[in-house]
Amino acid sequence: RKSMWDVMVLGAGAAGMAAAVEAGRRGRRVLVVDHAAKVGEKIRISGGGRCNFTNLGVSAEKFLGRNPRFAISALKRFTQWDFIARIDSAGITWHEKTLGQLFCDGPSTQVIDMLLRDMADSGVTLWTGCELGAVTKDGDIFRVETKRGVQEARAVIVATGGKSIPKMGATGYGYKIAESFGLPLTETRPGLVPLTFAEQELEWIKPLAGVAVQGRATAGGKTFPEAVLFTHRGISGPAILQISSYWREGEPISLDLCPGTDPAALLREAKRTAGRSQLGTALAQIVPERLAKHLAEVFQERGPMAELSGARLDAIAAGLRDWRLMPVGSEGYRTAEVTLGGVDTDALDARTMQAKSVPGLYFIGEVVDITGWLGGYNFQWAWSSGWAAGQVA
Ligand code: FAD
Repeated sequence: RKSMWDVMVLGAGAAGMAAAVEAGRRGRRVLVVDHAAKVGEKIRISGGGRCNFTNLGVSAEKFLGRNPRFAISALKRFTQWDFIARIDSAGITWHEKTLGQLFCDGPSTQVIDMLLRDMADSGVTLWTGCELGAVTKDGDIFRVETKRGVQEARAVIVATGGKSIPKMGATGYGYKIAESFGLPLTETRPGLVPLTFAEQELEWIKPLAGVAVQGRATAGGKTFPEAVLFTHRGISGPAILQISSYWREGEPISLDLCPGTDPAALLREAKRTAGRSQLGTALAQIVPERLAKHLAEVFQERGPMAELSGARLDAIAAGLRDWRLMPVGSEGYRTAEVTLGGVDTDALDARTMQAKSVPGLYFIGEVVDITGWLGGYNFQWAWSSGWAAGQVA
């Protein structure tokens, strides 16, 4: 039949293209369909336009989900080194920025071009700007409604990503397909997202907009070092994006504003050498000036340093190491880099990504309940899970 494909890949993001390349290389007749006009839009905007395409430190602890260990098999079979080898052989140069994060030296479109080239070289057919509808299975054959007519396929790989950034074409499509085949989902929520505050809190946060601190954020039993950034809506920066995936509404976030320093010693030193100065001035030796001014008000100290007891200085120092903030929510899917939750991994085979109850149906990438930390882990999951499905579909 003319519309019979061996494999249909739904979604031409990182995971879908990775899977299509592998299936194509195995000689499968592959069709990739995406409703967006352009493929890999998230690759293009990722990493500030330089695509943080993987991380040297990939391990199960860097992933969230009901069962993060589900990810191990795919991550071990197609590793960060395997993807680096692809990048190298495509002539894309890269550098390690920090914490094992690898970025392209040039624009991230190089990664998209590499994937498009690999798909073309392995004979993959790509339809962009093509809406998708229902997916059904009749015997061994899947029927996929598309704007260009119903297509038939022996295998369907769902790679339509999560709900993050609807403006860029994110939809809940993959979850609906999973549900229509009776597969369980875990609760979805925005991850790697700035946190927001109640109106009255914004009164003091707004004047701090633009202030950044090399701090440490703690919530939900996890701590992340790195920058904390104040914005006119709340707090952001890598440490906050990381902790947002672990934080739950109603819990405080603890900020260490001066990791690796001894603020008590610094304050005692300031009392000794500049007893007539005010707390705000002394704090400005430890944190950015605008924040120091605000903290002096929080600690309600207006007199000279000389008047503050040693015990009071210790209490202020402790406050700098454990400053509790109470976010009310997050900026949501509008700005979240990822979607936590998704297709329950219990329903999938960890080696192949195939649904245990629906032979021939696969879920890969962000639609699955596997979410990485900030730092290239999400793309590595997309490459690895895509590779795994592409070996067998
Ligand atoms: P996606 O890349 O989202 O691809 C899904 C595809 O499916 C899209 O092309 C979409 O158009 C298509 N689609 C969706 N719904 C439908 C539908 N109904 N019909 C047809 N097609 C559909 N991760 C990192 O590891 N490093 C980074 O540097 C990084 N930076 C990021 C920056 C931003 C601003 C954002 C938003 C995310 C970033 N991420 C980063 C996360 C990373 O982009 C995702 O984890 C990754 O793209 C997921 O890959 P995927 O293929 O599963 O989904």
